[in-house]
Amino acid sequence: MTVPYNQEKIIKGISASPGICIGKAYIVDTEGVNVVEKYFIKNANIKQEVKRFKTAVKKAKNELRTIIEDAPEDFRDHVNILETQVILLKDKMLYGRTISTVENEGVNAEWALKKVVTNVRNIFQNMTDSYLQERSSDIVHVADRIMRNLVGIQQVNIKNIDKRVILVATDLSPSETSQINLEKIKGFLTDRGGKTSHTGIIARTLEIPAILGLENATKLINNDDVIIVDGISGSVIIQPSEQTLIKYEYRKHKYYQYMAAITRSACSPAQTTDGSVIKVLGNIELPEEVVSVHSHGGDGIGLYRTEFQYMGRPDFPSEDELFDKYRDVIEVMAPNPVTIRTLDINGDKARTAASVAYPEVNPALGLRGIRYCLKKPEIFRVQLRAILRAAAFGNVRVMFPMISNYHEVIESKRMLDEAAESLEKDGITFNRDIQIGILMEVPSAVIMADLMANEVDFFSIGTNDLIQYTLAIDRGNKQVAHLYQPFDLAILRMIKSLKDVASEKNIKVFMCGEMAADPIHLPILLGMGLDGLSMNPQSIPTVKRAIKTLSINETRQFVEDVLKLTTAREVFERVHDVYGSMLSCEIPFNNGDNNK
Ligand code: PEP
Ligand code: MG
Repeated sequence: MTVPYNQEKIIKGISASPGICIGKAYIVDTEGVNVVEKYFIKNANIKQEVKRFKTAVKKAKNELRTIIEDAPEDFRDHVNILETQVILLKDKMLYGRTISTVENEGVNAEWALKKVVTNVRNIFQNMTDSYLQERSSDIVHVADRIMRNLVGIQQVNIKNIDKRVILVATDLSPSETSQINLEKIKGFLTDRGGKTSHTGIIARTLEIPAILGLENATKLINNDDVIIVDGISGSVIIQPSEQTLIKYEYRKHKYYQYMAAITRSACSPAQTTDGSVIKVLGNIELPEEVVSVHSHGGDGIGLYRTEFQYMGRPDFPSEDELFDKYRDVIEVMAPNPVTIRTLDINGDKARTAASVAYPEVNPALGLRGIRYCLKKPEIFRVQLRAILRAAAFGNVRVMFPMISNYHEVIESKRMLDEAAESLEKDGITFNRDIQIGILMEVPSAVIMADLMANEVDFFSIGTNDLIQYTLAIDRGNKQVAHLYQPFDLAILRMIKSLKDVASEKNIKVFMCGEMAADPIHLPILLGMGLDGLSMNPQSIPTVKRAIKTLSINETRQFVEDVLKLTTAREVFERVHDVYGSMLSCEIPFNNGDNNK
């Protein structure tokens, strides 16, 4: 379907990286070969046909090798994903089955490959696990490369984009992204993917506006169409009218002017009008994002999600590899703290290769976070040793995710001690004198907080999961997104009770869930007395700016009133009435997209 010339059209997707850009579309055809003919091969020619397939695989391998070798320094992390694709080329499921289909059914290699991939896709599609789905997309990318070689179509060439464009693609594989001259890219739009997809992470790291999961952007947008990407609201305006263009040019100018001003002021501490300084820290996924935390005025890293180093590879990272990554981040942030969260795989997170064998029907309630690590001590030990070694180079805190009972806290600490002892024995430098915290994201842990507080130095509230588990709302399910309310009184009572317990036990409480990133929640969070807030780096300046307009004393009184209310909507309205103009929050009533 094409859009009639000059008829403005708006499509919506998932905002994966904020910002506004206006430019011409550059469609990347990554869909591969759609029409595949089936024909039969004479018995005498079967060997030749298998050889033709093997040659196409070999060519694909050489192509991937070249991309890996040419990958710029910044893409070293993603090279792992490409290495996985090299391995997948010879995967039994793909390589072996295609050859046996040619041999057993006497069909051409293209048809055999298509049949095998369709099969694999169907199997993976019925799984809700995001790691397995990603693995399936790796297989599809790899098969597409082989198919193009079989039918003699040129591989997608995005290396030579020579003008500043907005890239529109079905999906971008890591090998494709790594070939792009990113200085030429104003924005990213993709049909598939979400906030945690590879393209989303790259876009955020490089601060390029991106909207993903648009479903049919590649069908609705034509090459060279003028488009506006509004990464703040997640809207794409195709063929905007003159009036819309003027409006967005102005909005864009205002947005960047505003961001520049608040980013400048974010260098100073977030001090309330009555003199309390609230620490505002950044959440990161890739070590490279530490730069963004710095430039946005972050007072440290409140959550370093470490699972990305385990993703998209067939093996586990070594202790030295992890140590290097952690040390880089710690040294850049020093003397500010870096809170390293131990591996939280499964659930909505990536799995490591080793766990593929155990797909779970209900992964959010399955073997994830600390449960996984305690069940796989050999993997946990490697990470704990790397953290303790890196801690010798700056200010490190360690934090355990998905704690749901007291025993897990004790066991995690025991493993940490054991890791320290083994380093001692090996004569390797490390620092055991680090703060230990737990993520408060499971209701049972909140209920047991008084006991847990005896064992740790801090709590960090993970609202993304705490809301999910408390309200029984799948954080990724659009159907129930309207019920995903940080202002639900059940959530507010939990935060309050955590802070009360922590004050009694003299330990600190931080928040690192997305709730902390939205200024509308600040009067309540400050009024409850949270000791620090951690969020995506781009939100730091806005939050710091908002904190500077608030008084702790006033918010304390305000919280008392709010806790007497009954519904999330009432809370929102009360915050909006009292603080709306101060926080200049044009934020609509939570639409539940805040953790996508
Ligand atoms: C959370 O659950 O709030 C959190 C910070 O962790 P994640 O989003 O990585 O699950
Ligand atoms: Mg969580």
